[in-house]
Amino acid sequence: MDCRADKEQLKADRGPWSGREVLNFCSNDYLGLAGHPSLIASMKQGVEHFGVGGGAARLICGNSSAHNRLEERLAEFTGRERALVFSTGYMANLALINVFAGRGGVIIGDRLNHASLVDAAMLAQATFKRYKHADPQSLKHILGKTGPACNKLVVTESVFSMDGDIAPLPLIAETCAGTRVPLLVDDAHGFGVLGKGGRGALEHFNLGSRDVPLMMATFGKALGAFGAFIAGDAELIECLLQTGRTYIYTTALPPALAEAAHCALDLVERERWRADRLNALIKRFQDGATKLGLRISTSTTPIQPLLVGDARRATAVSDELFHRGIIVAAIRPPTVPRHTARLRISLTAAHTEGQVDHLLSALADLTLDRERLAGGAGDNCL
Ligand code: PMP
Repeated sequence: MDCRADKEQLKADRGPWSGREVLNFCSNDYLGLAGHPSLIASMKQGVEHFGVGGGAARLICGNSSAHNRLEERLAEFTGRERALVFSTGYMANLALINVFAGRGGVIIGDRLNHASLVDAAMLAQATFKRYKHADPQSLKHILGKTGPACNKLVVTESVFSMDGDIAPLPLIAETCAGTRVPLLVDDAHGFGVLGKGGRGALEHFNLGSRDVPLMMATFGKALGAFGAFIAGDAELIECLLQTGRTYIYTTALPPALAEAAHCALDLVERERWRADRLNALIKRFQDGATKLGLRISTSTTPIQPLLVGDARRATAVSDELFHRGIIVAAIRPPTVPRHTARLRISLTAAHTEGQVDHLLSALADLTLDRERLAGGAGDNCL
């Protein structure tokens, strides 16, 4: 394998286990690219050439040929007229929503949208409505009830970060088209993974810029780097560049990171076996967990939540897994709705089949322990 085989084998830096080797099952480095020798080399060369920091905001003197090249490559990769690089996905979402639906506008988002989209809507001082999770009918209902504001927007994640399910984008796009409200898609967790060519959820569903005028994705997940971009029609991107405060008033993404993201795009394209391998591991985990009777979801993405319910119990299970040499984060309210605390298991192409089996057998042990504690009346829940 052309990546550091022990990438998911981390040294723990927590409490009494500090320094111990543990298995990481909560990273978003879905394709295992963060430790790829080519990615590391591109970043090193970038630092040698450009230095470490960007030095200023892009519109001052922080822009570099690395940013320009990356944006051209992103436009070509996504099939859009133009792309704009941001320092983080959080900032990209703030710009996206504030530029296209400010005060007096209406933002309609999925109930489970990422915090950055929610914060962006609040900052925009627009009317903010939420439709039922992944429910085009609920969206339609809300669209019908909101007035004729000209700066209305619908925004959704493609792959939901805490549930791993994929939004029904074709139906959502159709609903938006029917009311002429633009749809923005945050493809942070789909980009690089979904679609035949790794171009993300829009490729997966064969949706173009007429269906989804603006898309956002990050470099910090499947691309194994850091940063983000928005892609769309040239006019919309120019508007973001001229008025997006989180683009204008912040230090540029370090050029070396732009070089690394560029290299990651090449790897996503060239090494499609990574996505195949990831999908095989997802299936292995799903099959194994089903055999164990665990309460997993039907997610087909690398995000495999295991519902626990009670927040304290979720933390306890996470701690018990840590004792067994496995890191899985417990996700609790307010990040997820009340009574839906969970273990957010994420798989990557850098995992081995043996490591997935090891996780499954640790989960089986914990389930057995719990059943024993419950006097044998357990329902195989953690
Ligand atoms: N959108 C989604 C759906 C995310 O999950 C995240 C990061 N967890 C972001 C945006 C923010 O991206 P970044 O980490 O680059 O700020």
